[in-house]
Amino acid sequence: MTDLTNLGIADIRDGVAAGTFSAREVASAFNAAVAKGKPLNAWLVETPDHALAAADAADAARASGDLKPLSGVPLGIKDLFCTKGVETTAASGILKGFVPQYESTITSKLFGAGAGMLGKLNMDQFAMGSSNETSAFGNVISPWKRNDGGNAALAPGGSSGGSSAAVSARMAPGVTGTDTGGSIRQPAAFTGISGIKPTYGRCSRWGVVAFASSLDQAGPMAKDVRDCAIMLEAMSGFDPKDATSLDLPVPAWEKRLSGDLKGKRVGIPREYRVDNMPAEIEALWEQGIAWAKDAGAEIVEVSLPHTKYALPTYYIIAPAEASSNLARYDGVRYGLRDLPDGANLQEMYAATRADGFGAEVKRRIMIGTYVLSAGFYDAYFTKAQKVRSLIVRDFEQAFEKCDVLLTPTAPSAAFGLGEKAADPIAMYLNDVFTVPSSLAGLPAMSVPGGLDGQGLPLGLQIIGRPLDEQGVLNAGLAIEERAGFTARPGAWW
Ligand code: GLN
Repeated sequence: MTDLTNLGIADIRDGVAAGTFSAREVASAFNAAVAKGKPLNAWLVETPDHALAAADAADAARASGDLKPLSGVPLGIKDLFCTKGVETTAASGILKGFVPQYESTITSKLFGAGAGMLGKLNMDQFAMGSSNETSAFGNVISPWKRNDGGNAALAPGGSSGGSSAAVSARMAPGVTGTDTGGSIRQPAAFTGISGIKPTYGRCSRWGVVAFASSLDQAGPMAKDVRDCAIMLEAMSGFDPKDATSLDLPVPAWEKRLSGDLKGKRVGIPREYRVDNMPAEIEALWEQGIAWAKDAGAEIVEVSLPHTKYALPTYYIIAPAEASSNLARYDGVRYGLRDLPDGANLQEMYAATRADGFGAEVKRRIMIGTYVLSAGFYDAYFTKAQKVRSLIVRDFEQAFEKCDVLLTPTAPSAAFGLGEKAADPIAMYLNDVFTVPSSLAGLPAMSVPGGLDGQGLPLGLQIIGRPLDEQGVLNAGLAIEERAGFTARPGAWW
């Protein structure tokens, strides 16, 4: 039999339904891949029994003609999602030992749709980072290597770096990610997989450890566009437990997939041609434009004039919200408690937070409390909110002229571990193309476009109008059909 770990979500769903293989065989194959993949450090918790139990339920459902949309599909779950009875740390020392009493809405929807869980995936601590190096439990190593004969360990992207590594190393056919400023799209681009962040409000945030609540969105990461559509349908939908959840029906995205872009206008934002962009990224973008044309689209140049303010705006708003959200970690309610001898309550808070939070998280809390402080609130936070409105307006005006936007996902291919870790600004600059659409709450996806000269994957990003996930997925499919991206990392681990 072919190696079942090469299969994607649609293949598994259809193969289980047809009886080509059993769900138990699939779960066992992925469980074995997870165990073999330890050197990549992609998993914080392994839950092989959960995957097997869901598989057995899927096999029984097939026998009784009762299959659900994800029956027999084992998934990896980013450790930002609370999972009942399974340790959830958001890759932070402060949540060590925290075992949620409840299931996040997203995971309960996925499990309700028949999926099983292979384990909890490593990530940047509290989803703050672009390389997975801020995890309290060690960085993830990308399965990809440069083709220069060297052995440099590369970043899998972040913050959903365990998620991207798991799919690209064939340890899971699909995974959940979250995206606050690019954390689904950039790691997908770095590892040659697809990922979509839906419109803000499509996926419930209930039970997702909060980073920046006005930006956080969950989404799927998988081998290809179809698999993302299947997973996103299972994850989306109104949730009364999330005040910002959209009360709208979930479209049948998979059924309406089409790579035909006739009659569609694809916008190319001129401000995304940033200084010092590697020639290979420029070339890939040109190639993407040619593919969109080939799919029947009309190409139009558009302007998003406030693009250059997006990064500073994001790095004010996200830390501000984070500093408020993270106030709840006080050593009383969750996880770690550091109670030095004779300490009073204040000292216990301070010791716990000093011990439990990593350096990047502390940096964000300090930036956040600064921009929210009485003396600086108007100069920074209020100003950033105003600029955010201008960025939203830029997109509204651009979408009068086009249906989707096409850009590179990131300004570089995967960088080496340690290469940017000491320079937070260099790290933040990696988010330059993903952050604007996050600030505007728009659906956006990354699909693999090709390899650079070093043999590393590069991604193309498609950004859509609010609620137009279909347009985004379809443009993604048009690119995918033309890119013919089949490269995968060698199994060196
Ligand atoms: N890299 C960005 C940051 O560090 C985005 C992270 C995310 O989307 N969760 O904030």
